[in-house]
Amino acid sequence: MSENLLLFGPPGVGKGTQAARLSKVFGIPHVATGDMLRAAIQSYTPLGQRAKGFIDKGQLVPDELVLELLGERLQQPDTKTGFLLDGFPRTVPQAKVLDEMLTKYGKKLDRILVLDAPEEELVRRISGRRTCQACQATYHVDSNPPKASGVCDRCGAVLIQRSDDSEEIIRNRLREFGAKTKPVLDYFTAEKWPVRMIDANGNMDQIFGRIYAAVLLS
Ligand code: ADP
Repeated sequence: MSENLLLFGPPGVGKGTQAARLSKVFGIPHVATGDMLRAAIQSYTPLGQRAKGFIDKGQLVPDELVLELLGERLQQPDTKTGFLLDGFPRTVPQAKVLDEMLTKYGKKLDRILVLDAPEEELVRRISGRRTCQACQATYHVDSNPPKASGVCDRCGAVLIQRSDDSEEIIRNRLREFGAKTKPVLDYFTAEKWPVRMIDANGNMDQIFGRIYAAVLLS
């Protein structure tokens, strides 16, 4: 089934976890600006080098860098039959450019899925998060631990804690979300984009069920 979906919500709400599953179920590519930026950093591209300082401090990366990455990605052929955007747009100017890009490429969003959970739960989720360096699978030390501590179930590589997942940096990321990203939701509403609110409290299966229903039923 072809769907153009967008997952929106604060850091730690579980967008990445849900996106991996949605992308598989709907057969659409997961387009995550955070993953794209980390890949650029790992391969030492000039863009990655410029982005790194912002990410390490828990700040948003300047719009022009993210827009460069995303503009290229949305022109790739695998997005023709649908895509799942995650972590973008994070500012009102990014939302406006997305609007222009979609119009230019003859695409539109079918659903914007807005996930929300209380701030202390977000901090708990992020500070316990462990990520596989090789395949990007994510775990949580308490609520979704790997079978063997520190080792990815899927590919056997070592799990790491992301450098921006320390408590101090998490608080900065949440502040950035409140100041710069939350206003994007007002933009979506004002522009009458197809927003659906999803309660992101509960376990991963419950949250997935709510998202799936919001995509299919509404
Ligand atoms: P999370 O949603 O848990 O914060 P992401 O992987 O989506 O994790 O993002 C990690 C970091 O990458 C952000 O804190 C920010 O610095 C940067 N980033 C990702 N997407 C964007 C974006 N659209 N605009 C600006 N910065 C971004």
